[in-house]
Amino acid sequence: MQNSGHANPLLDMDFRIPFDLIQAAQVEPAMAQLLSQARGSLAAIAGVPGPRTFENTMHALDNLTEPLDRALGVVRHLESVATYPELRAAFNAVQPQASAFYTGIPLDAGLWNGIKAFAATSEGTQLKGERRRFLDKTVETFRRHGADLDAAGKKRLEAIDVELTQITTKFGENVLDSTNAFELLIAREADLAGLPPTALAAARESAVRKNLDGWRFTLQAPDYFAVMTYLDNHAIRRQVYEAFSVRATAEPRDNRPIVARILELRREKAELLGYGTFADLVLEDRMAHNGARAVAFLEDLKSKTERRFQEENRELLEFRREIEGPQAPALEPWDVAYYAEKQRAALYDFDEEALRPYFPMQRVVAGLFDLVNRLYGIHVLEETGVPVWDPQVRYYNVRDETGAYLGGFYADWYPRENKRGGAWMDGLITGGPAPDGFNPHLGLICGNLTAPVGGKPALLTHREVETIFHEFGHLLHHLLSRVEVRSLAGTNVAWDFVELPSQIMENWCWERPALDLFACHWETGAPIPQDLFQKMKRARNFRSAADQMRQLGFGLIDLLMHTRYSPERDGDPVEYSRRLLQEFSPAPLPPQHAMIAAFTHLFGSPVGYGAGYYSYKWAEVLEADAFTRFRDRGIFSREIGAEFRSKILAKGDSEDPADLYRGFMGREPDPRALLERSGLA
Ligand SMILES: [Zn+2]
Repeated sequence: MQNSGHANPLLDMDFRIPFDLIQAAQVEPAMAQLLSQARGSLAAIAGVPGPRTFENTMHALDNLTEPLDRALGVVRHLESVATYPELRAAFNAVQPQASAFYTGIPLDAGLWNGIKAFAATSEGTQLKGERRRFLDKTVETFRRHGADLDAAGKKRLEAIDVELTQITTKFGENVLDSTNAFELLIAREADLAGLPPTALAAARESAVRKNLDGWRFTLQAPDYFAVMTYLDNHAIRRQVYEAFSVRATAEPRDNRPIVARILELRREKAELLGYGTFADLVLEDRMAHNGARAVAFLEDLKSKTERRFQEENRELLEFRREIEGPQAPALEPWDVAYYAEKQRAALYDFDEEALRPYFPMQRVVAGLFDLVNRLYGIHVLEETGVPVWDPQVRYYNVRDETGAYLGGFYADWYPRENKRGGAWMDGLITGGPAPDGFNPHLGLICGNLTAPVGGKPALLTHREVETIFHEFGHLLHHLLSRVEVRSLAGTNVAWDFVELPSQIMENWCWERPALDLFACHWETGAPIPQDLFQKMKRARNFRSAADQMRQLGFGLIDLLMHTRYSPERDGDPVEYSRRLLQEFSPAPLPPQHAMIAAFTHLFGSPVGYGAGYYSYKWAEVLEADAFTRFRDRGIFSREIGAEFRSKILAKGDSEDPADLYRGFMGREPDPRALLERSGLA
């Protein structure tokens, strides 16, 4: 234990965060103090004596939660990368108060009146640029959160939000419980034919953990996909597929009435706040702006993908008939992944593992820094001796070509038991232009990549290399931000825009000259052999129309359920969505198919990806399109790099993202580049 007399490090954090000093016992007292300070600041803004100014109202609002955000961000981060029971307990204890404080901000009548009073001043009416946008967005956000409702309206809104929180939580629990309720035990080794050794070992281990004989399969993703992709036994594939597609549709875990109720509450909430549909409410401040535009976007892509989709399905059936004879039946849904894998192996003879020796971690990272130096002129240099949360973590400084300091970041790449899964970027401190110069940014990137073993360097898969580039793209969006208003800086942008800076980085992982910067055999130093590179490129677009249709189908049912769907006219939402999904499926869906009853993206939280699933495709269209400017001018073009930096990366949310995009491209987004890259044009 630290003895008393030491200050609580969470209360006094400057740029160099003392990760080595922070302890669980400090979390609750620090948060209590920071919350009380934030409440005090809120009351002070609400009760400003004398005339309202940008400084005493909007600037103060922008900074209102900064110390709380910073401390909470650090604790949340430590909980996800270096957790232990006391820290988790402390974090869980402070979460509800913090989130109640944040959600209460737009409902504070004094603050809302203060903002409206400022908007009416001559300074407020004459604001320009970033400050204008900040004021307008603040007013809209407060309205969308109910600031303008009367007392009865606010009460109803609160009741809707409480019920949505409860039933979406229940939705997620039902999915989890019904997924876990299924197990398939296979006793005969002959029934396992086709499965790769890793899947077999996992199934055996799963049985042993439960004190069972044989091989155990669940509906968790790795088991489910292994069975669907590799298992020769058609009847078992069918059994597992059917179990998977009816999850959460039987008592006591039936999500079907919950889906209907969630949709009803979301409709009511949208109406209460003055919107035609839930999609219009959610999308108002996103790039698509409304539901109809997002629907039109998906339908356009669908029409451009359908022909190739039908061809792919015919080719797959022909492939089956080549190997099984002309009388082989049409494909059922539980056959598609299985025959597709056989077809892929026959067509491409490409083993992803063959690439690993060319991707040693340190070379990849050095190549990435070299690339961003060429594109943006920035220098990334490691600094040792900085306090970190784990000895594996590295720290880097980023400087401009003039030597000006832009900020720093931590990189934590390998899995540990005290760290959560996945890969992500986070901004710990948002800097930017300030009256006294420039405040540097601080951020981090984390992953769970292949770790070094047996004295060899960490050898990555190509997908892992893409992950590093992707997360670094988010980090650049943060570190290169030149926005004065904190709430509009860096990655604080619309959901359907935020993946542009990250996904565009993945393009360089597919270009030979870029790969040659870093893809060198870890022992011989040789570049990737040309035939291996060609195989990798060709295999990339295998069944890309089917993949795209799948994503478009999910995006479209999401939007249609949150726009056009009416329970009186369209009946049961599960059947409604099955009818629709049928158009996007390579094989006829069975009548009991109820995929949306387990679609946690849409129904596992009050908003989540609800009316926002299209964003995945939207961002792909943007990044593929934007990358054409690099492709056409040279993928290391400093000129295009400088434009992308100043017009996109530096701007955060300080202008409408559609305007930013037009500013960089000189026109509206065009899906052609994505279709070409996917072999669909
Ligand atoms: Zn991302």
